[in-house]
Amino acid sequence: MAGDSLYDIAIIGGGVVGCAVFRACVLAGARTVLLEKGGDLLEGASKANSAILHTGFDATPDTLEAACVQRGYALYRDICVDMNLSVVKTGAMVVAWTEDDLAQFPKIIEKAARNGVTVRRLDAREAKEREPALAGDVRGAVLVEGEHLIDPWSAPMAYARQAILNGGTLLRRARVEGGMRQDGVWHLDIAGKPTVQARRVINCAGNYGDLVEAIARPSPFQIIPRKGQFVVFDKTAHDLFRTIILPVPTALTKGVVVTRTVFGNVLVGPTAEPQQEREFPTVDHDNLEALRKAAFRIIPALHEHDVTTTYAGLRPATQFSDYQIEALKTEGWITVGGIRSTGLTGALGIAEHVVALYRDNFADPAPLKDVALPQMPNLVEERPRPWMQPERGPIACHCERVTEKEIEIALKDEVLPAGTLGGLRRRTRCMMGRCQGFYCTRRVMELAEAHLPGLVTPIGEGQRGDGRDV
Ligand SMILES: Cc1cc2nc3c(=O)[nH]c(=O)nc-3n(C[C@H](O)[C@H](O)[C@H](O)COP(=O)(O)OP(=O)(O)OC[C@H]3O[C@@H](n4cnc5c(N)ncnc54)[C@H](O)[C@@H]3O)c2cc1C
Repeated sequence: MAGDSLYDIAIIGGGVVGCAVFRACVLAGARTVLLEKGGDLLEGASKANSAILHTGFDATPDTLEAACVQRGYALYRDICVDMNLSVVKTGAMVVAWTEDDLAQFPKIIEKAARNGVTVRRLDAREAKEREPALAGDVRGAVLVEGEHLIDPWSAPMAYARQAILNGGTLLRRARVEGGMRQDGVWHLDIAGKPTVQARRVINCAGNYGDLVEAIARPSPFQIIPRKGQFVVFDKTAHDLFRTIILPVPTALTKGVVVTRTVFGNVLVGPTAEPQQEREFPTVDHDNLEALRKAAFRIIPALHEHDVTTTYAGLRPATQFSDYQIEALKTEGWITVGGIRSTGLTGALGIAEHVVALYRDNFADPAPLKDVALPQMPNLVEERPRPWMQPERGPIACHCERVTEKEIEIALKDEVLPAGTLGGLRRRTRCMMGRCQGFYCTRRVMELAEAHLPGLVTPIGEGQRGDGRDV
């Protein structure tokens, strides 16, 4: 076999977990390819989440998830400055509205202590003092100072970018359809493309994790996607409060969260709805209306603000509550499945754990020296943005204040150019503001056609696009 076409590791799935694992494998010194079926990275579960960098205060103690979340949290904070990634400290409050809620506080505080996270109990007056916009009947809160907000797309893009800059290979539109192992080498069948050969495979396929796992063995877990719908309030609501407002959780869900986003909006959600559909999360009137009402109940002043948009995401849940991460030594395979509700935070911790499994079970390459660092463009409102500079040039998206130059950079990027219209939006925030692209779509299309022809293709009425659609 030609040495050139044989990778040490093939990773299946370019969500936040696959991107973090890609980075870790490349930096560990393994010749690595990332295979993503979508036209761009982050087209699965990682497309839509609450963007909270969790401390893990409420994780089930002594689980793999708790360990990875805590490690991921620490690693993100270690590397974010070097890659120009943002982290916005807001803190979070678990808020009690009833006597029953208050009765849960000792358990919440005890769990946080077991997870090594410092929290503080606030009485009703202290809670109102910290967040005066909270409804008047708040009974008290548990304050978790360490909770942060991040940009959920720039972070995984930075991981993948760093992997590519340091020699990793990314193949998009590369759906793995099957594979077989011969003489210690996996031959992966890619739809419409040549076979990819790798000594080891890492399954990071998110909501398709059980189907991909079946390439190596009957999957020990079943994916039951759990939908989460969100309502997004306009930027006018952003300054109503700062702290992430959490309810007292139930067994199934952390409940309705009211939070700012780093992009200057207010987010309310998510729901928790198990379903069969793995790909297209829909929103529905009744759930959105319930979220809106819940938001008004928590922060009554939200009544005065418009809803800008709604969206939904799909958590890759399984029948198990913990992450499903395992090395199959004889199969040359590592399973990374069921990264349900905390993958944005846990990704770097998961990646570190996966590399340790790789070293323990398979090979021990020399880590890279002189590692190249990407510098990510800033999309976060609390820091200076390109539109503020005098030489910014024309603005394409006025709602989100995205300059034409930013869009051109994302299209012409030699390392990781936008692969879909969704990918362009996630890289720049164009078309994501109050008008949802009503005013800027035409100019964005012109720029796309000029700099990356074929990025956008029209689809017929009633059809579902592949991410390039308008
Ligand atoms: C509503 C909601 C709110 C959340 N809030 C938070 C939060 O605030 N903080 C937090 O830390 N986490 C949060 N999460 C969790 C986080 O978003 C997920 O844990 C994470 O996105 C899972 O990432 P993943 O890489 O495992 O899966 P995915 O992002 O789904 O990635 C899997 C990738 O594999 C690709 N793929 C699948 N099959 C194949 C194949 N055969 N060949 C090639 N590629 C394939 C898919 O296209 C996809 O891109 C939230 C999730 C949801 C849904």
